[in-house]
Amino acid sequence: MKAKDVIVYNLELALEDGGCPLCHCLAKATKRYLANFLYESVNDPRIRDQLRAAGGFCREHAWVLQRMGDPLAHSIIYADLIDAFCAELDQTAGVKRGGPSRLAVDQERVCAVCREEAAMEDRYVDGLLGALRSGAFREKYRQTGCLCLPHFRKAYEPVRHKEAGAFLAEVQTAYLSRLSSELKEFIRKSDYRYAHELPGPERDAWIRAVRLWVGPWVSPQDVEA
Ligand SMILES: [Zn+2]
Ligand SMILES: [Zn+2]
Repeated sequence: MKAKDVIVYNLELALEDGGCPLCHCLAKATKRYLANFLYESVNDPRIRDQLRAAGGFCREHAWVLQRMGDPLAHSIIYADLIDAFCAELDQTAGVKRGGPSRLAVDQERVCAVCREEAAMEDRYVDGLLGALRSGAFREKYRQTGCLCLPHFRKAYEPVRHKEAGAFLAEVQTAYLSRLSSELKEFIRKSDYRYAHELPGPERDAWIRAVRLWVGPWVSPQDVEA
C-alpha cells in the first residue's frame, strides 16, 4: 500500500473509533515510532548521536518511553546522555568566566519524537484534506468526524482548500453547537429548581469539551499500535 493510502486507511479506522481522527492516528504512529526506537534503533550509533545532540527527549516523551519498559535500552540511552553531559560540563568549566554556557537551554535542541510527531502531523493533515475529496470518506467524516481545536486550526485552510475548508467548518460547527447545547443543559439542571430531572447524555459534556478544546489525554502507550 502506498504511504498516502496507508494514511487514508488509518484515518478511516480512526473515524470508526470516534474523537479527533488526527489525534488518534498520531498517538498510534508515535507509539510505533517509540517501539521501533527502543527495539531497533537504540544500538544504531547514528541515532544515538542525534539523541545526544538533542540532549535526550522532552519530558512527556521521556516518560512515555520509560513506561514502555526495556531497562537495558534505557541504560544504554541514559549512560550515553550522562557521559555526553559530563563531558560538556567539563568543557564549560574551562570556558572563561562570563562566557556563554553551552549547557544553557538551547533552542536548537528539539526532542526527536516531537520532531517526528510534527512531521507526521503535517502528513496526516495533508492526507485528511486529500481524503475529503472522496464522497465516501466525506460521508464517514460527516457522521463521526470532528477535530480537536488544535487540529482544526491546522487543517482549516479556507483559502488553499476552499471546498474542504467549507466542509470541515460545517461539520465542526454542527458538532460544536450540539456540545454547547449539552453544556447549557448541564448548567440548567444544576439549578435547584430542575435538580429532580435525571441526568442525560449531557453528564459528561464537560469532559468532551476539554477534550475538544485541547485534544485528548492520550499517551501513546495507552493506544494499541
Ligand atoms: Zn486532534
Ligand atoms: Zn518530545
